[in-house]
Amino acid sequence: MSGVSPPAASSQHPGDHHPRLLSLLRRVGAMLVDFVFPLRCVGCGAWDTLLCDRCRAGLPAIIPPCCPRCGVSQPDGPVGVCATCLRTPLNFLDGVWSGYRFEGVIREAVHDLKYQGISALAEPLGTLLGGHVRERFPEATVLVPVPLHPSRLRERGYNQAALLARAVGQVAGLPVWAEALRRVRPTPSQTTLNALGRRQNVRGAFTCAAPAIAGQRVVLVDDVTTTVATLDACAAALKAAGVRSVWGCALARGG
Ligand SMILES: [Zn+2]
Ligand SMILES: [Zn+2]
Repeated sequence: MSGVSPPAASSQHPGDHHPRLLSLLRRVGAMLVDFVFPLRCVGCGAWDTLLCDRCRAGLPAIIPPCCPRCGVSQPDGPVGVCATCLRTPLNFLDGVWSGYRFEGVIREAVHDLKYQGISALAEPLGTLLGGHVRERFPEATVLVPVPLHPSRLRERGYNQAALLARAVGQVAGLPVWAEALRRVRPTPSQTTLNALGRRQNVRGAFTCAAPAIAGQRVVLVDDVTTTVATLDACAAALKAAGVRSVWGCALARGG
């Protein structure tokens, strides 16, 4: 679904002719999910909450020490820059911090947030990140979510990273510049690519659309990161626009 139909598309994909209607239906669908169905915990199914206290306390936190560059956990390794960063250093990010391993309840929660229309999950998940962002990046002045390509945004109806950033901002007391970055080309799925392949895949995929962001210190917000290639490509666009520092923050770390 990541491809973009040419303007004179044939009638092979009738849905492509009504992107606005589809988007509207998806948004209405997501609202119905939020309002009609009672709240259930994403982890254990307990009623009246999206994430119960017990499941929240048992989330798979990333175990330090972590690579100071990309933030990958290396509990058995030496404290310092990881092997991947030594081989292919990040060019633009000043640091990355992720909250949880991409497994268990976090994996379920991200799946429901992205693919099941449960957009309300962004609030408890972003709230979890908010306190850490203040602590880890005390010099930050602005939050910027990793943008979706417009075709993907129409498909989903919302950008989960922007919803997370809004919740993070409320806790951390930071403004969110949701339109600061644009994804100017859709990127194929990265799941089969290695670290270097992922970096080539997203190179030049983002531009900065907010010149006024020059001089700010930015924390990028994303739901899941694996090799942090996407975050580094976002940082490239922001640094080109004169941003002083760019850190990355992701709810979950895959790989
Ligand atoms: Zn639960
Ligand atoms: Zn690293």
